[in-house]
Amino acid sequence: MKDLASYLQLFLLFFLEDSPDNIYIIYFVKKTMKKIKKESKEEKMSKESDEVERYDFIILGAGVTGLAAAMYGARLGLRTLCLGATHSAELPIGGVITTTNIVENYPGFIRLSGPELAENIKKHAESYELVKIKEEKAESVEKKGNDFIIKTDKNVYHAKTILFATGTKWKTLDVPGSKEFENKGVAYCALCDSPLFRNKIVGLVGGSDSAAKDALVLTEHAKKVYIIYRGEEIHPEPINMERVEEKVKEGKIEIINKANVKEIKGEKFVSSVILDREFNGKKELGLQGLFIAIGHIPLSELAKNIGVKINEKGEIIIDHKTSETNIEGVYAAGDVADKPFKQAITGVAEGCTAAYSAYEYVTKGKVEVS
Ligand SMILES: Cc1cc2nc3c(=O)[nH]c(=O)nc-3n(C[C@H](O)[C@H](O)[C@H](O)COP(=O)(O)OP(=O)(O)OC[C@H]3O[C@@H](n4cnc5c(N)ncnc54)[C@H](O)[C@@H]3O)c2cc1C
Repeated sequence: MKDLASYLQLFLLFFLEDSPDNIYIIYFVKKTMKKIKKESKEEKMSKESDEVERYDFIILGAGVTGLAAAMYGARLGLRTLCLGATHSAELPIGGVITTTNIVENYPGFIRLSGPELAENIKKHAESYELVKIKEEKAESVEKKGNDFIIKTDKNVYHAKTILFATGTKWKTLDVPGSKEFENKGVAYCALCDSPLFRNKIVGLVGGSDSAAKDALVLTEHAKKVYIIYRGEEIHPEPINMERVEEKVKEGKIEIINKANVKEIKGEKFVSSVILDREFNGKKELGLQGLFIAIGHIPLSELAKNIGVKINEKGEIIIDHKTSETNIEGVYAAGDVADKPFKQAITGVAEGCTAAYSAYEYVTKGKVEVS
């Protein structure tokens, strides 16, 4: 059809004199060309939309939550796509659990590494034909009629239901030098970067269980680790508190409570930090590295953009019986969802619940994809 339009164009240009006599022919030819172009555009669009991959259940985020939900979705007969942003600073398939070396509280596994747990759940999901896992970053989500349209950095997909399992990103320390020395001594993932600080003196800012675990990881390579915590006392799980105390006795860890880092200093790399109180008679503490473990920010922007309710912390508000959000067919689970206790097992449970709710929604004829 397109060729015909170009031939007509040529005919107009070369053979048809632009004179009053030919006015009707010219009008007819131009009208036909317009119609042809419109038809071929529509043809192209329908061919394109035919090529768009359609799924019953698309999961944004391939951490343990997303991967487990994918496995359940497929078992329930849902055509399932799990998208995981992995390039640049993003996390690998498996998500944040891959940044910890020891997991001892995932039921059924007495002790395994974070990467091992993630790999097991990934393999489990991949063992179902109805599951596709793709390393793509979702960049926009919109609802059109019954469809959810997900645009990634590589493709466009249509879905009947979507699950936000996008997790969180590290909270950064907002002091002079933290940006300047990022990857020059300032780091966030102890498991990933600890070997880079072999025989060095490092600091870790934070007091949670994951912060304590990061400090323990750092003792495997660093000469000494200072835990710098603004509160009265750090508050890891008792078992990890015991391990930290062991390291304190060995002189590998020293805890500086009721203190904040005010500034990070150095030339090319971090060489010291300034505290907001004196420690051993001075406010400057010599360090060759500083790990930040002060919490995480939920990655809920895409959900917010389609009207999903978010709480003051940026977490996606869900119905904890169904993992459903305030929008029909939209679910959320894992670290991005609103709950105080964020663990692999709790995320996995919410993800599987979301898969079941999506199954109910799809099979109960609540939605028919156009
Ligand atoms: C140091 C540390 C130690 C921990 N230790 C334990 C432990 O021992 N036991 C335990 O149970 N829990 C532990 N946790 C907590 C546990 O890791 C998390 O609760 C759990 O892994 C969260 O999983 P998730 O899938 O919800 O999120 P995440 O693992 O964060 O996964 C979200 C995924 O979504 C991807 N993503 C984000 N946005 C997009 C997008 N737009 N498009 C595509 N993909 C996207 C991210 O790249 C990421 O891969 C630890 C956490 C930390 C930080």
